[in-house]
Amino acid sequence: MKKNIKQIIISITALLVFVNITGCGLMPESKPLLQAIKDRGYIKAGVKYDSKPFGFIDQDQQIKGFDIDLIKEISRRILGDADSVKFQQVTSSNRIPSITSGSVDLVAATMTINNKRKRIVDFSDPYYMAGQAIMIPKTSGIKTMENLNGKRVSVVLGSTSEQNLSTLAPKAIPVGFKTYTDAFSALRAHRTDALTTDDTIIAGFLAEDNNFKMLPNRYTQEPYGIAFKKGKGSRELKELVNITLEEMQSDGTLDRIRKKWMVNYIKK
Ligand code: GLU
Repeated sequence: MKKNIKQIIISITALLVFVNITGCGLMPESKPLLQAIKDRGYIKAGVKYDSKPFGFIDQDQQIKGFDIDLIKEISRRILGDADSVKFQQVTSSNRIPSITSGSVDLVAATMTINNKRKRIVDFSDPYYMAGQAIMIPKTSGIKTMENLNGKRVSVVLGSTSEQNLSTLAPKAIPVGFKTYTDAFSALRAHRTDALTTDDTIIAGFLAEDNNFKMLPNRYTQEPYGIAFKKGKGSRELKELVNITLEEMQSDGTLDRIRKKWMVNYIKK
């Protein structure tokens, strides 16, 4: 009898430990992301380090760009301090896993809102509209997307441009890179004939090297959004970010950020 009771107590304890570890069942849910951010005192934001002028490292090793200013302003409005943010580098291919694993609270990284991604993560309302374009050496004879068939084309893995290239120019030979820095280095070294990505990122490269040009056509629309983990836990944060974006739109802050970063880069 005594042995049985002991057995039962051991089983119950084991069950409670299991429930606690796995977070399933009887224990209360972990706190909403917005509350967690407020308690911790800062936002963990995934941004690009290789996508000038949206997210890049400047000569003083400081992280700068449109997405950085955007998140700092959101932090100022939500937490009362523009510097209550810890930036973490993401690339086009690891930004979704960074969100789903919880290593960042949100991602602001030239990230296009689309249905495929919406199945895995949630997005804010769009804050910028980019478009896919083609970058080539000034001496190149390439004039259209069609001309990319049979050519070696730099793309970044996990980007929409990588995906789109296979339908826009099915016979192009995609050469995939992890970062935009590497994709551009390959083009510079003539290891590829062209590079395709958003006009924003191409404009950033052109500002640094005038041996290249961007073709005038835009082949897609790429609305940028801030991405969050899917589900209830981040709903409140996403809604607050959307309200904040709306305020920033109506009081001119978003335009100011657009002008600050894009005027010198994009002539649309
Ligand atoms: N906006 C596109 C995307 O989300 C291309 C730029 C990027 O790789 O971040 O895939």
